[in-house]
Amino acid sequence: MGKLLIVGTVAFDAIETPFGETDKILGGAATFISLAATQFNVDSAIVSVVGEDFPQEYLDLLANKNIDISSLEVVKGGKTFFWKGKYHNDLNTRDTLVTELNVLADFLPVVPENYKNSDIVMLGNLHPSVQMNVINQMTEKPKLIVLDTMNFWMDNALDELINVIKHVDVITINDEEARQLTNEYSLVKAAAKIQEMGPKYVVIKKGEHGALLFYKENIFFAPALPLEEVFDPTGAGDTFAGGFTGYLAQTENISFENLKNAIIHGSNLASFCVERFGTERMQNLDKEEINNRLLQFKKLTQFDIELQ
Ligand code: AMP
Repeated sequence: MGKLLIVGTVAFDAIETPFGETDKILGGAATFISLAATQFNVDSAIVSVVGEDFPQEYLDLLANKNIDISSLEVVKGGKTFFWKGKYHNDLNTRDTLVTELNVLADFLPVVPENYKNSDIVMLGNLHPSVQMNVINQMTEKPKLIVLDTMNFWMDNALDELINVIKHVDVITINDEEARQLTNEYSLVKAAAKIQEMGPKYVVIKKGEHGALLFYKENIFFAPALPLEEVFDPTGAGDTFAGGFTGYLAQTENISFENLKNAIIHGSNLASFCVERFGTERMQNLDKEEINNRLLQFKKLTQFDIELQ
């Protein structure tokens, strides 16, 4: 069993979709990542920060799933990071209406002693200098460092972001963000440019159109499962990252072949995430439904063609 260190926001989200809207509910990149990773046989810990307004019930939810939250700092008198987003009718695109950094603005992460030798480090979405600070605290070189980010940090902390990208093995990024980061429309060219910036592997997420994994001159594609019910895509990218890194930490194998399987596990878990608002669907998933969907993935993509 490998050790997985997770960094990212733990947040309040307010979400508007064509199907309804929510008030402040549990969200945040590290929340979705860690919930997805609990589906694997791994030890995981979150490094993050919340304010005093963050309900004990949410902390218990994470702790009861055996996620180590000893380095989830609670700032006395502070307010939790808040994000509000509104999805367009296609559910693939959204506008950020509000980003309030609150306690995240002055956050100094502290990696727990027993996670300084983690096998996999998942740097979820948050300030790139916090992501870099976490890398610097590792006492042993992790087998794999994975970074996720978003346009907000490209707009607000580009130099720090470029610096942390130099130090990671894998980057997961959505298609529009890959284009923004590289000024390339072609995702193949964008991925090549990102590889030149540091990461050996580039994962480009395309929402309901699946995900691409680039490694040297190889490209692997995983579709997203066509679903009857898509309710709220929030957290799908983070759930993907949690499934991806959770599986890699469990198997302790970071070969390209195994990264392909990790992409499928990530896509599989993300397909559940979008079926309800926020983290609701991820809180009570069982192994049987996960395995059934993995079989659907296999069926969807397997074919046996003979060359003429
Ligand atoms: P995703 O839908 O996977 O891109 O992630 C959505 C989650 O990211 C939400 O739960 C938000 O709380 C969180 N989030 C939104 N904006 C940011 C940001 N600028 N930095 C870190 N996390 C964010």
